[in-house]
Amino acid sequence: MYDLVVIGGGVWGVSAARAATDANASVILLESRLGVGSEASAKAGGIVTDLLWHPEDQAWVEESRQLYAAASEHSQDATMLQRLGMVTLADPSRHHLLEARAQGLEARGIPATLLGHDDLTRQFPDLSVTSPDILALWLPNDWHVNPTQYCQVVADEARARGLTLRTGYHVSGLRIEDSAVVVEGPGESVRARRALLAAGAWTRRLVATAGYDLPLRPYRVQLASLAIEPGHHFPMVWDLATDIYIVPDGPRAMLAGDGTRLWEHDPDTYEQNGDPDFHEGLAEHVPALVAAGEGAHIVSSWAGAVGATPDRRPLLGFLDERLAVACGDNGFGVMRGPAIGRLSGLMALGLEGPRPHLDPKRLPTDDFEIRPGFTLED
Ligand SMILES: Cc1cc2nc3c(=O)[nH]c(=O)nc-3n(C[C@H](O)[C@H](O)[C@H](O)COP(=O)(O)OP(=O)(O)OC[C@H]3O[C@@H](n4cnc5c(N)ncnc54)[C@H](O)[C@@H]3O)c2cc1C
Repeated sequence: MYDLVVIGGGVWGVSAARAATDANASVILLESRLGVGSEASAKAGGIVTDLLWHPEDQAWVEESRQLYAAASEHSQDATMLQRLGMVTLADPSRHHLLEARAQGLEARGIPATLLGHDDLTRQFPDLSVTSPDILALWLPNDWHVNPTQYCQVVADEARARGLTLRTGYHVSGLRIEDSAVVVEGPGESVRARRALLAAGAWTRRLVATAGYDLPLRPYRVQLASLAIEPGHHFPMVWDLATDIYIVPDGPRAMLAGDGTRLWEHDPDTYEQNGDPDFHEGLAEHVPALVAAGEGAHIVSSWAGAVGATPDRRPLLGFLDERLAVACGDNGFGVMRGPAIGRLSGLMALGLEGPRPHLDPKRLPTDDFEIRPGFTLED
């Protein structure tokens, strides 16, 4: 019998399994897809930024950066993380938000520069922003990461330390007995003293098989890959007015997203391709942000499922003494995932104490409004 079974091989589950294995527990990680880092973690834009309003999130980003850097160093794969920096653009109605964030970052010792239109276009000639009223916040230390690579490297490291990894193992149900959690799937069931469910947008569905419920509503987020002419040099860009963000992706491509659909989606049946109106929005707005947008065309687009909670904080902790959960990413779980995963893996073993403000039972499970998690407003 294992000490811990972790269900879900995204950034959160892999990081949890790694931390638990490092703590000398016998751990098995079950992932329904053929590889780790295949669902939301594979579909993400990969932005890691300090521009978060909640102090706990800020600390998780800092710790996650170190964990991404350690994985990258170990794998000697320089493309796993890149320090691209990010420019956030605000029209006059949102200048105060950027100014407040800049002050907060300065107080934390994080490099952050406010730029007016002229300084912005001088420093970044490949931006095509024309409004003289624009205010920009430049964060040179923001990163882009490749979460799938991270998951693969961390899973490999953990396997070398004793983790059992089963991919292609779709968990169909859980049963809690006096001395064990029994996980049903293809073939033989898996028994462990405790289970940690880190199955992203599917976690509510899974806990239901054991008779529990969670305040977690899956919703859909879209991203597109655009082919561009080579020769452009621009940082990551987030435009608050349209909520569109852009990530350079090598010399001939960029990623562009917003496309958040803030209503509940079934994580098993949602539309996996980008919507026509998402494409139209990108075609209209991207050229007004980066010069590379002129003549760019969408090569592919996709959607992933993420999980909202009523207060936009994660759900971390026990539903039963043998059953813990780590979910509720609210659409920005890559940037915090290594740290949250680590914490939840240790919590599931009883090596970290409970966090009452993140307790999965702290909120009613009735329907609630889905709000974007990654915003400047608290
Ligand atoms: C288009 C898009 C862009 C995004 N951009 C960013 C960004 O720039 N920055 C950022 O921080 N976040 C971003 N996010 C959010 C981020 O992707 C998620 O918050 C993060 O990946 C959540 O990780 P996770 O491990 O909780 O979930 P997942 O990566 O979804 O992992 C859950 C895993 O559980 C497995 N699973 C589910 N059911 C079962 C079962 N029954 N049995 C076994 N395994 C099961 C799934 O196959 C999956 O691999 C974006 C998301 C999307 C969709």
